[in-house]
Amino acid sequence: MRYTGPSCRLCRREGTKLFLKGTRCLTEKCAVERRGYAPGQHGQAGGGRPRKQSEYAKQLREKQKVKRMYGLSERQFRNAYEHASRLPGVKGTNLLLALETRLDNLVYRMGFATSRKAARQLVMHGHVQVNGRRLDIPSAQVVIGQEVRVDPSSRELLSVKLAKESAGRGAPMSWLSVDMDNAAGRITELPVREAIPVNAQEQLIVELYSK
Ligand code: SF4
Repeated sequence: MRYTGPSCRLCRREGTKLFLKGTRCLTEKCAVERRGYAPGQHGQAGGGRPRKQSEYAKQLREKQKVKRMYGLSERQFRNAYEHASRLPGVKGTNLLLALETRLDNLVYRMGFATSRKAARQLVMHGHVQVNGRRLDIPSAQVVIGQEVRVDPSSRELLSVKLAKESAGRGAPMSWLSVDMDNAAGRITELPVREAIPVNAQEQLIVELYSK
């Protein structure tokens, strides 16, 4: 099941920004910036001795962090892993590539939505085209060269406008080409691990799922 509680609580639990709330994540209102300790009475710094985590606990936490960052259910995340693990190469990197090349993630990375959640909505409501045809499946895999475009009649949507206004929120992805005026973009090459801005030890996830 997908978590539907407060987003910021997840970031505090994982101790890192998961960027779940759009433009708010870039401001000083971000809960990780203001309260950088885990939620609950035992989370606060100085609230007790740090607990030593078992290897399993570390693997589980890492999986939860990445799964939540991309807003996936356990089943969806596991499916992405199974798909990635059948490909040649490093399994952990392949997992991140499978997540990065999802249609909803690309709409977010290209700057047409302020969060992955908003991107998923745009896709599911039929506002996004791939190579000129509507594609309303957020998990659809996009390949190098395919054009992802917000439908011209949908570009006036408030969510798209907001996203475009805040598109300077981070360095543009080196592996994407984006035409912001036309709300369109493409993958130009598959990124190397260092070009994927995800602060995670994906190898721990591979170890967890390989048991
Ligand atoms: Fe909330 Fe975004 Fe900050 Fe996470 S990164 S705590 S979702 S404001």
